[in-house]
Amino acid sequence: MRIVYVNGDYVPEDQARVSVFDRGFLFADGVYEVTSVLGGKLIDFAGHAARLKRSLGELAMAEPVGEEELLAIHRELVARNGIEDGLVYLQVTRGAADRDFLYPEAGTTPTLVLFTQSKPGLADPARAAKGLSVISIPDRRWGRRDIKTVQLLYPSMGKMMAKAAGADDAWMVEDGAVTEGTSNNAYIVKGDTIVTRQLGEEILHGITRAAVLRLAAEAQMKVEERPFTIEEAQGADEAFVTSASAFVMPVVEIDGAPIGGGRPGRVAARLREIYLDESRAKAV
Ligand code: PMP
Repeated sequence: MRIVYVNGDYVPEDQARVSVFDRGFLFADGVYEVTSVLGGKLIDFAGHAARLKRSLGELAMAEPVGEEELLAIHRELVARNGIEDGLVYLQVTRGAADRDFLYPEAGTTPTLVLFTQSKPGLADPARAAKGLSVISIPDRRWGRRDIKTVQLLYPSMGKMMAKAAGADDAWMVEDGAVTEGTSNNAYIVKGDTIVTRQLGEEILHGITRAAVLRLAAEAQMKVEERPFTIEEAQGADEAFVTSASAFVMPVVEIDGAPIGGGRPGRVAARLREIYLDESRAKAV
């Protein structure tokens, strides 16, 4: 049985307990991170730890443990569950308090939960060989998407809409422009230029996005950070998404229109390769 971490204890998953008064449960008053594991090692742990700190700060939530201890907990869970390839999910909530919209005045002890998911072959080339089909849907999330909160109901609805339409995922559109995917950042490629939306409160600041844009610049690729429309994407040479669990994943169809002849493009393939190479080399 899987061993999970709850507030200082490593316990079998069926013995893990969180209070019914936990504000994560009652108010979605919590933030999370997902760090991938390849070859038993964590990919870009420092990036995820830094974003977690920022999310907590934006919500005036206490840091449950320091970064070193957080790393130790991640490693311990990976080891105890024998994870070769997979994910570590981490969630911090403001903790348990009698139900009230106001943050508890005396402060609460934050709740810290981590668990692993084993995903053999997470980085297998076969996963990226086919590419994804996406549909566009209106972006109906709250306005602070830069904070990685556990309010994932709309993205969850978006994945269901995609499934109902026979697609793999959805790209969200606001004021005529693509914000991001339901659980990833969105990109198009036109000629030799990679286009992706600029950072702001409208999108999550992807850890994979930061690494991929840095690697693209190092490889002398041109990058434009600006909004783009679904029409522009449909006329692009390539499209792809990035996330900690999908790395760089080609998109080959948008609202029924094939992109780049309906096959994964070269830029996405190259970025996936250099991202995975570097990530593996630097994994902890
Ligand atoms: N945008 C959204 C809305 C997401 O949920 C995610 C994945 N959590 C991403 C982008 C990608 O972020 P990262 O590369 O840090 O996984």
